[in-house]
Amino acid sequence: MDKYKIWISPPHLSGKEMEYVADAFNKNWITTQGDNVTGFEQDIQSYLNETTEVVVVNSGTSALHLALILLDVDKDDIVICQDFTFAATVNPIIYLGAKPLLVDSEEQTWNISPVFLEEAVQDCIKKDKKPKAIVWVNLYGMPAQIHEIREIAQKYDIALLEDAAESLGSSYYEQKCGTFGDISVISFNGNKIITTSGGGALLSANKNYVRKARSLASQARDETLWYQHSRIGYNYGMSNIIAGIGRGQMTVLKDRIEERRANNRFYREIFASVSGITVHQEPDEHYFSNHWLSCLLIDTELTGGIDCKILREKLAMAGIEARFLWKPMHLQPVFKNCVFYGNGTSENLFNKGLCLPSGSNLTKEELLEIANIIKNTLQ
Ligand SMILES: *Cc1c(COP(=O)(O)O)cnc(C)c1O
Repeated sequence: MDKYKIWISPPHLSGKEMEYVADAFNKNWITTQGDNVTGFEQDIQSYLNETTEVVVVNSGTSALHLALILLDVDKDDIVICQDFTFAATVNPIIYLGAKPLLVDSEEQTWNISPVFLEEAVQDCIKKDKKPKAIVWVNLYGMPAQIHEIREIAQKYDIALLEDAAESLGSSYYEQKCGTFGDISVISFNGNKIITTSGGGALLSANKNYVRKARSLASQARDETLWYQHSRIGYNYGMSNIIAGIGRGQMTVLKDRIEERRANNRFYREIFASVSGITVHQEPDEHYFSNHWLSCLLIDTELTGGIDCKILREKLAMAGIEARFLWKPMHLQPVFKNCVFYGNGTSENLFNKGLCLPSGSNLTKEELLEIANIIKNTLQ
């Protein structure tokens, strides 16, 4: 457990979590229903906006799986998916026997390129195989070019699934991430901006999707007095104990966003004068990232050959965890047979990038230590 003294994105509790957890014990609601479950759902809903309804589940991956089922994704269907992401975005497409078509990123937000997206959609339609859904991600908290993505989805009438696992607290033109998809998904895994240890939520303004999601997440029981089932269900509900952690975390979400954004400002300011290092940031004021993780790009021509591998190793030797950017899905052995549209942008980002410690509980001293190790390595 003590491999690092500074972790990349550790949990940061408020102190209120145990009160809600105790409430579950006191009321003996040790199950996947109860006041914490409904309370947590309401807290998320009031944070996002009142028209987006919330179903909490046991992981972001489960939420993605349910979302694809609700969007009617079936065996051999094509689902267009952002290439530059964590494998959990793509895996549920495979669970359903559908075929992921991977689309490269653009350089501004590092998310799905609207240009390659439209090209991919048109090619699929030409082959008489219109994609069932488009899955995009707001990676590291950075909103994608959502207007352009939505325009394409509308033009060709294709459902949109927003993987907002990393972007709770981000917004785009003043609208919160997690409210842009026909269905959107967030994650409360241990390393996310707020955590329930493990957990997730499915979000939608479509009441029909929400009703079905609740049913599918709890074994799809028919509304009969006896146990009757007309379709296959899943056991994806969130425990009322775990939801208590979530309620405690919701009380400090706004602080956590500000703290992570402050980390990003610190890195941007301290590396502004360092040649060869660029901190990933919003393209303009319409983008508001929660800066879940702060990431660097390293130009080895300006750093005298010092690259992300060397920097990662130097930080690790000092007990500091830094990570490479997500390895693009089209380069993953497990997805090597997937069709890919792109020009090497995600691969280039992967080769040049590093995620720095970004926890909301980092101290000023820790931030300075990280920055100094990087600066000294480059000198
Ligand atoms: C964390 C994450 C997920 C999966 O969420 P879990 O709650 O860990 O299942 C999906 N997509 C992205 C982009 C993530 O970062």
